[in-house]
Amino acid sequence: MIAEKLQKIQATLPNNVCLIAVSKTKPVSAIQEAYDAGQRDFGENKVQELVEKQAQLPKDIRWHLIGHLQTNKVKYAAEFVHLIHAVDSLKLLVEIDKQAKKNGRIQKVLLQFFIAQEETKFGLDLPEALDLLESSTFKALQNIEICGVMGMASFTNDEQQIQKEFEHLRTIYKTLKQSYFAEQSSFSEISMGMSGDYPIAIKSGSTMIRVGSSIFGGR
Ligand SMILES: *Cc1c(COP(=O)(O)O)cnc(C)c1O
Repeated sequence: MIAEKLQKIQATLPNNVCLIAVSKTKPVSAIQEAYDAGQRDFGENKVQELVEKQAQLPKDIRWHLIGHLQTNKVKYAAEFVHLIHAVDSLKLLVEIDKQAKKNGRIQKVLLQFFIAQEETKFGLDLPEALDLLESSTFKALQNIEICGVMGMASFTNDEQQIQKEFEHLRTIYKTLKQSYFAEQSSFSEISMGMSGDYPIAIKSGSTMIRVGSSIFGGR
């Protein structure tokens, strides 16, 4: 049962860690069941699926967009999305800012970092993030709030490797906090940890875990 699985995970979490229930590919009825058990933070990785589900579900749900986001899709989610986790370019930030302005909102986002060994297109490295944060284009944006960082560890059974990657992300977080966000209390989130590795992520300082299959079953 979804409620029991949620409760079991919640019971192991420190107070400062937010559980995001990742409901991608799962029906609205499953989300409603989790909602009825008290869950309010949900994650989806596709904009269209997110928009369809949002329309059918209670409006006090905090929706997290956790997947890679294309610039041309930002406008569909801009009205309501609580936190965009996977921002990995200035171009995307500029578009998010523009759409947030249109909706009279300040959009909260996380910068996604590439920390795994695997080849993937997504995520910044530290020099790229510094370039972004130093740019005049970034400094002119008024409707975004960068609230922290996000990353995914390698898909491996090697726990030491996973821990190393999560600690790398925490180091990046600390570097950015000191250099750019020391005065901004809302820069406080490290989004890392999924069904297979969230206990390690929590040990490494995660503040948001994104858990799907351990709550809703396999996909
Ligand atoms: C699917 C997904 C998750 C959740 O994965 P599980 O292994 O089902 O917990 C977390 N983060 C991202 C970015 C995802 O796409």
